[in-house]
Amino acid sequence: MNCHTCSRKSIYFARYNGRHYCSTHFLDFVEGRVRKEIRRQGILAHNSTVCVAVSGGKDSMTALTLMKEFSRERRDIRLIAITVDEGITGYRSEALRLVEEYTDRIGVEWHCRSFNDEAGFTMDRLAPRERERTTCAYCGVFRRSIMNSMARDLGATRLVTGLNLDDTAQSVMMNIARGDMTRMSMMGPHERTVDGLVPRAQPLLGIPENEVLLYAIQRGIPFIRSSCPYSEEASRNLFRDIVLRLEAEMPGSRYAVIKSGMAMSEAPPSGRISRCAECGDVTSGSECRACALRTELAKVL
Ligand code: SF4
Repeated sequence: MNCHTCSRKSIYFARYNGRHYCSTHFLDFVEGRVRKEIRRQGILAHNSTVCVAVSGGKDSMTALTLMKEFSRERRDIRLIAITVDEGITGYRSEALRLVEEYTDRIGVEWHCRSFNDEAGFTMDRLAPRERERTTCAYCGVFRRSIMNSMARDLGATRLVTGLNLDDTAQSVMMNIARGDMTRMSMMGPHERTVDGLVPRAQPLLGIPENEVLLYAIQRGIPFIRSSCPYSEEASRNLFRDIVLRLEAEMPGSRYAVIKSGMAMSEAPPSGRISRCAECGDVTSGSECRACALRTELAKVL
């Protein structure tokens, strides 16, 4: 098949819009939507300090690359890459090397903090222990907490993540299945500012995961291809399958899921956002998740 825009050979067919794309027009297609999302979310507002959370995977490396390119001419923008080292031998150490090398190559300032220094444990130490939750349940909470404090300490006005369309649709479905409207109301991208919480932004929000992968490959953006050794435990895997099945049966349903999630999160339950009595972080109760888990982990580690 040929590209819908020119006569060159198609490399990609988007089922949800019925169009074929050659390599050049596929890159344009992705970049156009990312530009639009950056504008819609106001990520590159005048005099911004933008932190990009970079894990070394395809999504965050693509987000960093595009944020760098779209802010190249902007002297009023300070772009910083931040990484959290969870302490996962092999997997994370390989990613750290890649991120350090890439940020150096493209000229982006890079900062890294570890679970070990910030929370006193590594995922490798926690994983073999008997505990109440999956490894990812602990990892996700501490990673978000450390990323937020890093971005806050660096004076960031926005914390950019590489979350794509599929990731976000999965999160909406997870929150619905758990009946967790508080978490739904705290999902990014953030349009409201809450003191102490650096507003999260998602330039790849409208891009399906397979398109991010193809984009990274076409552009030669480096990324780690190995998976975390603990990823099989993630409850997200079930929702990944659900979202993929939905999309296969009803093309375009990922966008509809996100739209519904956004409508549900527009009016957060008032008075539910406060400060943790222990560490001062933003929370929906009297204690933040990280402090609650820290107490739980003290008995395990
Ligand atoms: Fe952490 Fe789970 Fe992601 Fe591994 S898969 S990095 S344990 S959240």
